[in-house]
Amino acid sequence: MDNNNTYKYLLSDLKNLKGVGLKTSNILKKKRISNIFDLLWKLPKSYTDRSISTKVKDLKIGEVQTLSIIPYKYNFPRIRKLPNKVYCRDNTGELECIFFNSYEGYVKKILPLNKKITVSGKVSYFKNKYQITNPKYISEDATLIKNKHNKYSLTEGISEKVYNNIIKQILSNIPKLKEWHSSKILERFGNISWNEAIINLHKPENIGKYKTNFYERLAYDEILASFLVHSEIRKKIKKIKKLKKIFNLKNQNKILSKLDFKLTNDQNKTLKEINYDLMSNQKMFRLLQGDVGSGKTIVSLMAAYNVVKAGFQVAIMAPTEILSRQHFFLAKKIFDKDIKIEILSSKSELKKRNKIVKKLSSNEIHIIFGTHAIFQKKIKFKKLGLIIIDEQHKFGVNQRKKLSDKGGDNCDVLLMSATPIPRTLTMTIYGDMDLSIIREKPKSRQEIITYSKLDSKIDEVIKFIKKELNDDNQIFWVCPLIDESKKIDHESANKKYQFLDKIFPNKVSILHGKTEVLEKEKILNKFLKNEIKILVSTTIIEVGIDFPNANVIVIENANKFGLSQLHQLRGRVGRGKKQSTCILMFKSTLSDNAKKRINILKNSTDGFEISEEDMKLRGFGDILGFKQSGNKIFKLADPIHNSDLFILAEKEIKKLEKANQDIDKYKTLMKLYDQADVINDIV
Ligand code: ADP
Ligand code: MG
Repeated sequence: MDNNNTYKYLLSDLKNLKGVGLKTSNILKKKRISNIFDLLWKLPKSYTDRSISTKVKDLKIGEVQTLSIIPYKYNFPRIRKLPNKVYCRDNTGELECIFFNSYEGYVKKILPLNKKITVSGKVSYFKNKYQITNPKYISEDATLIKNKHNKYSLTEGISEKVYNNIIKQILSNIPKLKEWHSSKILERFGNISWNEAIINLHKPENIGKYKTNFYERLAYDEILASFLVHSEIRKKIKKIKKLKKIFNLKNQNKILSKLDFKLTNDQNKTLKEINYDLMSNQKMFRLLQGDVGSGKTIVSLMAAYNVVKAGFQVAIMAPTEILSRQHFFLAKKIFDKDIKIEILSSKSELKKRNKIVKKLSSNEIHIIFGTHAIFQKKIKFKKLGLIIIDEQHKFGVNQRKKLSDKGGDNCDVLLMSATPIPRTLTMTIYGDMDLSIIREKPKSRQEIITYSKLDSKIDEVIKFIKKELNDDNQIFWVCPLIDESKKIDHESANKKYQFLDKIFPNKVSILHGKTEVLEKEKILNKFLKNEIKILVSTTIIEVGIDFPNANVIVIENANKFGLSQLHQLRGRVGRGKKQSTCILMFKSTLSDNAKKRINILKNSTDGFEISEEDMKLRGFGDILGFKQSGNKIFKLADPIHNSDLFILAEKEIKKLEKANQDIDKYKTLMKLYDQADVINDIV
């Protein structure tokens, strides 16, 4: 075979395998296994040892055993319901093989009389006879049976034997791929080749051996492939030449000087990074990452302002209208009158909408705010120079890439996310973008005090809330997911609402998954205007909205949340100058592990630090919903256990990028591991 194409076997359809027909291949496809490569990552969970043979006299009842026997007589009863029987023996005793629902011909074929046959199966004892019922492992060739047979978590409709045969077939055909790693990297993994590593991965005796050369090499392959794809996207976007945006920083600084606060060092630093990109002739594709309340909005608005001053338009998208409106009003407040801004909302009348659309096409509107509605097809910009997307941490690589293409070559892209993630995950999740990070929070903030309370002490919490209400403060009350079922969820929030409403009449309102969008906005607006004092809700979906007057958050059933999520929720309060409080409620006394987690939260307000600890305690899959639809990011690699490999891959990528090295030798690796087709139009 042509050395460059041997990998194609791995990407070929399952139907190319012997013993896999339409039925089996459809079953596997439903499990998102669509080619041979996908099958490699379903690892054996355990194995059945059929390698040691025994004699009839030594058989152990109830256990899976293997022995060589000679069939000497058939019993095929006329009555359908009765099983077919084959009498067999060795030189120590007798064994019956029992077949329910079988054909004579089949039984005769697999157990021919007077031949030495190896059988393996679970042994029972019935009417003074040893029996094996419906044995599946039968062969004249003992070597086919006397092995360790892997147990995979099987998909219904595929038997263990069939599955094992498929895997065996693949492993014996596994192509020897041309090595893509340098000899130095390879040395780190004991010089094991990719195909050797795969074979090792499926050996029964290697189950669970994670700290091995073969496992780590494969994990590293996976990490590197993902980083390479990201790096290629980044490089490709960087190659796009755009018109430089020319603006004078004096204007920006004038606006900043009128604010009632000074930018933090990190805000200044990140704004500088963004401005530098805007002024360059390379297209910007940047993520502004910063903890909740770190002040990303002002940074992005200043960038928008500069872009407008350079003669371009800006589109600023937020996930909800209320957040969008908040951004809009802030812009209105701080920008000079000559910057024309508008907001496009689902509530805008058609007449107004049309006017906005028209004005966007003639550059009479400079900045447009809105939800995804601002990217409708019929909206054409005269001169779009920057797209800003707030709070879209759930955008995947594919969506981001589409977005970056959207505005055209002259359009820069800035994404913002308040989702601090552990360092090892940054390249994994955001490696296609340049990063600006705000670590520091505004100094004027008072630290939020975090308490934990048992449910039984709710009276104390109520007392505390009474006091806060007397000081005209506002309260969030979160009732989290108790059950997968939304109904129960909603009921528990409702109950709490009724409970609180009795104590604090006319002060409480409720939001849950079933609240209509418009109703939700109305309630949130009332809360913003301080017309409601306590807002009971299930998980708060709206991120990013600034409620400066809310300074208490009560979180029920707090153990249902991960630390990062708790930190995010806590970040809803404490944005103003007042002292804020977060009360974590628990149903019962905390376990030691839970105590540990809560202490991390009490002792730190740094989202990055908390996410790091959270990942260590809970695994990475769950951090803030990155476990999208049950899909794991990696098949083998684990950002906690393999953190060294992530760092190694990151170094390697940086080296490659710095040397502007050709990545030709990694093409096979990328094509195999990146089947999402992100890379296809790149390499
Ligand atoms: P996030 O990063 O979560 O989007 P915001 O941009 O909404 O945070 O800012 C949160 C609050 O902090 C806002 O009320 C904002 O006016 C205020 N803020 C932003 N920067 C500073 C600063 N440097 N000093 C004081 N307050 C600030
Ligand atoms: Mg924000």
